[in-house]
Amino acid sequence: INQLYGPLNWFGTYYRVIQKNFIDMEKLLELFDVSVEVEDPAVPVPLKVTQGEVVFDNVSFSYEKQLTLKNVSFKVPAGSTVAIVGPSGSGKSTILRLLFRFYDVQAGRILIDGQDIRSVPQFDLRQAIGVVPQDTVLFNDSIRYNIAYGRAGGNTGVTMKDVTDAADAAHIHSRIMGFCEQYETRVGERGQRLSGGEKQRVAIARTLLKDPKIVCLDEATSALDTSTERQIQTSLRDMTRDRTTLIIAHRLSTVIHADQILIVQNGQIVERGTHSELISDRDSVYYDMWIKQLTDAANASYDPILEQAN
Ligand code: ATP
Repeated sequence: INQLYGPLNWFGTYYRVIQKNFIDMEKLLELFDVSVEVEDPAVPVPLKVTQGEVVFDNVSFSYEKQLTLKNVSFKVPAGSTVAIVGPSGSGKSTILRLLFRFYDVQAGRILIDGQDIRSVPQFDLRQAIGVVPQDTVLFNDSIRYNIAYGRAGGNTGVTMKDVTDAADAAHIHSRIMGFCEQYETRVGERGQRLSGGEKQRVAIARTLLKDPKIVCLDEATSALDTSTERQIQTSLRDMTRDRTTLIIAHRLSTVIHADQILIVQNGQIVERGTHSELISDRDSVYYDMWIKQLTDAANASYDPILEQAN
């Protein structure tokens, strides 16, 4: 999972440097000795995101020799939610990384509103997609900057009201107002320490401000049944309601409510459908997973029925 954020954070820092200092991209890459995995086409066509439909069309991909994804095809209709589930190492994060174009597919194509993501500027692509990782890394800067950063690196006409509205919607505003320097409080490693939940809410605020049509989410693995956790769930639900959403899902509630569930095993989609469709087949991989989750939930004495009701 961490591999998803590595490049993301790397991109953030890198982008910010470019924005601020207009450093030539190639020089910067030389400087950091980073190899370019993907390149913009010679004549990129601007991405037009009208609906936010995402299509994986027969996608295959390998990091090294072994195929990591094999003939993966699925469609996420605009505004709907796909939950990706499967064992560790099955290729879930890779699907999100490919959508964000950290790597290019080796066969097939990925389309956003009918446009192959390889034909558009990477900048457009990354503006169209919001990402809420499990563990958000904050910049050593003000909390205002960290939220404003959602929109084109925070440099294009973000007002204080935009920032506070986003923080409010992510249920982090009052917490920020409790800090001595409020929105100017420095966060990150050298500043005010934020809890995991608070950091995730900053990521949600950042994404709300960015206002993308497509959201990729990596759900936290812990299923803590606390009020904080519920608030985050509420914020996440608000954020994903009208957006095309791809979630690496770990929670019963998320999986149950998804419009479509993809079960990934060894880089292939082995089953797909809604919860009720999948659960009706007692021989399905999904059925086994479901029973296991229920058992785990019972052992952790957390109430899946209550969770379902949410
Ligand atoms: P988890 O739930 O544990 O995060 P995942 O389903 O998200 O797993 P991926 O991260 O997509 O799985 O990884 C799929 C496979 O690709 C794994 O076997 C992993 O070891 C491999 N892999 C992932 N990233 C790289 C990389 N940068 N280089 C080489 N192999 C990789």
